[in-house]
Amino acid sequence: MLDDILSIIAPHHCCGCDEIGSLLCGNCKYNITSEQKMVCIACGRPSGVTCLCKKCLVPYEKAWVVGERDGPLQRLVGLYKFERAKAAYKSLGDLLLDVLPELPTETVIVPIPTTTGRIRERGYDHMLLIARYVAQARGLKYQQLVRRQTNTKQRQATASKRDLQAKNAFFVSGKIDADTPFLIIDDVMTTGATIKYASLALCNAGAKHVWVAIIARQTLD
Ligand SMILES: [Zn+2]
Ligand SMILES: [Zn+2]
Repeated sequence: MLDDILSIIAPHHCCGCDEIGSLLCGNCKYNITSEQKMVCIACGRPSGVTCLCKKCLVPYEKAWVVGERDGPLQRLVGLYKFERAKAAYKSLGDLLLDVLPELPTETVIVPIPTTTGRIRERGYDHMLLIARYVAQARGLKYQQLVRRQTNTKQRQATASKRDLQAKNAFFVSGKIDADTPFLIIDDVMTTGATIKYASLALCNAGAKHVWVAIIARQTLD
């Protein structure tokens, strides 16, 4: 409601073409999702139906990625994460909805938890908003099953430091049904450590089917 009022006062501009109206117009959204590459998120090689090849050993069974972290997608994620553009959760959620296939009705969507400090800075829990939006659109459940152990920020850390931090970062709160598919969602994947250890936490708690969906994949070079 407040977002709608604010967008009348200060209208949104499309992150791709600057058109007034929304943070991502239909055309630019189509350009992103139609260029979706089926490459493995763990090794970068061409994959099959999902973004995970058969050779990579990871704690999740399936993966989907909207796109690389550049261009309009990078701007949209940046606005949402760092410039308090709360309304972007809808555009980002719509992108995920476009690349996700039909999921089993018992699927539970699990957002990657954000540190309390970041939630305070932004004024919202950014992945929780997207999880709720995607779950409601598909008629699925969402649950904050994965929690953060420490409040270490990831952004400036080096790859090896990130891995070490992520390793002990998560724990599971809540009951895990082994047959339920859990779809972990996150905005940006850099080294993959976050998604790996969040998945591992769910597996260690008894989950047998952990899937992941990422909005933007950052290629480290
Ligand atoms: Zn546009
Ligand atoms: Zn692979």
